[in-house]
Amino acid sequence: MTVKRRIGRILSAAPELACPFPCLACGGPAGGGKNLFCAECLAELRTIQSPRCPGCGGTLDGVLDYCTKCMEFEKRPRNGAFALFDLRGAGQQLVYAFKFYGRPELARPFAALAAELLEKENPGIDLIIPVPLHWTRCFTRGYNQAELFCEELGRLTGIPLQTALRRIRRTRQQARLDRKQRFKNLSGAFALKSGLDLGGKTVLLVDDVMTTGATLTAAAAAFENSGVSAVYTLVIGRR
Ligand SMILES: [Zn+2]
Ligand SMILES: [Zn+2]
Repeated sequence: MTVKRRIGRILSAAPELACPFPCLACGGPAGGGKNLFCAECLAELRTIQSPRCPGCGGTLDGVLDYCTKCMEFEKRPRNGAFALFDLRGAGQQLVYAFKFYGRPELARPFAALAAELLEKENPGIDLIIPVPLHWTRCFTRGYNQAELFCEELGRLTGIPLQTALRRIRRTRQQARLDRKQRFKNLSGAFALKSGLDLGGKTVLLVDDVMTTGATLTAAAAAFENSGVSAVYTLVIGRR
């Protein structure tokens, strides 16, 4: 074997040998060298298990078909929903780090959890579609976290990503609005890009977090009359 080839082999094996990737949440050894979360952090995240609320992907907390949070709303305009974990404790800290504190590398372990969930539930997704940020917000933040997450998810699942949605108007920050104002603020905020053929497709709308669901409801509304056969939603954290 030539020296060059031997060095090439050593280098390609090196990451696992020399520096096992740390857990992206606690910095401890993650095991497997895959840039994911360690078992202890995963346990702390308390990922949501089935049966899930079809409106938000959250935990079903009663005998009804929807969770108590979703019961307060009109029927959600989607066929089903997924959420990775509740936005509390460790999960909330991680999502905030991803969203606000410049930790884009968290897209990867989040996407690994989402890929696992999709494989298990098997909703037959044809396209992954990120909910877009308004460009001014993307500019100040440096990246669109939902889009990064989608790129990783697409890579892991092999499902194509399509940035099919656009914001057609700038909306107010949702944080200070009450529930009714949130829905009003976002109504008609999204449109489909022109020239897409979505006929018969099952699409997965992806955002980072869900609070009232106003954003996802407005985004899902853009698919009315588009010919899609089903709309599912997925968020990292459910408040
Ligand atoms: Zn950890
Ligand atoms: Zn729900």
